[in-house]
Amino acid sequence: MSSPPPDPLRGLPAVHEVLEQPPLAEIRRSLDHDLLVAEIRKRLADHREALQSGTARKSPDAAALATETAEAVAAWEGPTVRAVINLTGTLLHTNLGRAPLSEAAVAAMERAAATADVEYDLGHGTRGDRDQRVAPLLTRLTGAEAATVVNNNAAAVLLALSTLARGEPVVVSRGELVEIGGSFRIPDIMRHSGCRLREVGTTNRTHPRDYREALEAGGRVLLKAHTSNYRVVGFTREVPLERLVALGREHGVPTVADLGSGALVDTGRWGLEGEPTVQGAIAAGADLVTFSGDKLLGGPQAGLLVGRAEWIRALKRNPLKRALRCDKVTLAALGETLRAYLHPDRLEEALPTYRMIGRPVSEVDELAQRLLPHLQRWAGDRARAEIVDGESQVGSGSLPGATLPTRLIALTPETGPATALAESLRALEPPVVGRVSGGRVLLDPRGLLEENALLQALASR
Ligand SMILES: *Cc1c(COP(=O)(O)O)cnc(C)c1O
Repeated sequence: MSSPPPDPLRGLPAVHEVLEQPPLAEIRRSLDHDLLVAEIRKRLADHREALQSGTARKSPDAAALATETAEAVAAWEGPTVRAVINLTGTLLHTNLGRAPLSEAAVAAMERAAATADVEYDLGHGTRGDRDQRVAPLLTRLTGAEAATVVNNNAAAVLLALSTLARGEPVVVSRGELVEIGGSFRIPDIMRHSGCRLREVGTTNRTHPRDYREALEAGGRVLLKAHTSNYRVVGFTREVPLERLVALGREHGVPTVADLGSGALVDTGRWGLEGEPTVQGAIAAGADLVTFSGDKLLGGPQAGLLVGRAEWIRALKRNPLKRALRCDKVTLAALGETLRAYLHPDRLEEALPTYRMIGRPVSEVDELAQRLLPHLQRWAGDRARAEIVDGESQVGSGSLPGATLPTRLIALTPETGPATALAESLRALEPPVVGRVSGGRVLLDPRGLLEENALLQALASR
């Protein structure tokens, strides 16, 4: 007769045994004791559950648990977000923090970080207006009557609809019921803002009469959402903003334009056609225009609302505004970013976003030539590095389909998969993020702002 198998749970060490292991010696001296014990207990509980459910067969020993715990503690002590080098070819990469901030914006954030007059009137010594410095810039630059700022553009749309159309039907074309990456869906935002979605037209074609019928049936707001990250092509028809505004006015109904990216300059200057400007939307008569701070504006994450004074006043009275307001550090960076547009001829020097977009392909090529030997040295005999033609995209849902010619460094693996090569680039300090395509790792230097940081990363391993 065979004896029953030993109970694996009995092999789990006790908390005090784990605490005594060498990997935790240093940590025990400085870290809060209760936090450390709680982390060990949590790990023991996870292992116990894995053993009970059969997903693990063998209990880890005290040393292994101590090593795990030490790694978790090291992660707490490490940076919350790490600086990375974006060579993906998507210049404003949502997962990599979108627009890189200008030096002036970073300096302003540092100044604002301590105590700042974010909502204080220094003249009167009383409570002030959070928008006091940003609104005058925004109105001058866009031609709008008034402006305000919230946390991001999703919040701006939420606030606009919740203020203008609470409980009422909002009319929007079926061709514009967009989903932006990271689960921003126009229909969801509309539901959460408490208004009712009144879809009109079809995916590819919406006519003025579709809107008119919806207005006659009681539509209270017209919404035009920029189809940021896709384009409907072929047999299509959309109603231009001017026309929509005119229809709205006939019925005494405001028009909201969600531009998404919302450029303040004509990106046609860099061969990127078709991105509507904020000034254009205001000139077309939109009552409210919403856009992001960290897309083509080139600033911090923020949601900007510009338009008619009466609507901006109403937005600022909505209690939601309080929940969605931005902090002093964001406002400081945003103000500094907007200031760059006072000198449009120097935009490429002032804003990293336009430095990347405006880089001539010849300059990208020179950069690629300089980087090539360093990448080949780093890769050694794991891969062959060469320069090939490619295309950069702006990203963040701006300018779908529009690309900038670029020169890529392609790493073709000699051994192992391209994904492993890309992974070792991401393990550098700072991490280097490229993209894998057709069995190669492609690195786009158009987005490289700190050449030295890349050289140091490559030399670090
Ligand atoms: C990006 C985008 C949003 C969301 O903006 P966030 O700043 O990411 O919150 C909303 N609408 C459109 C059309 C967009 O392109």
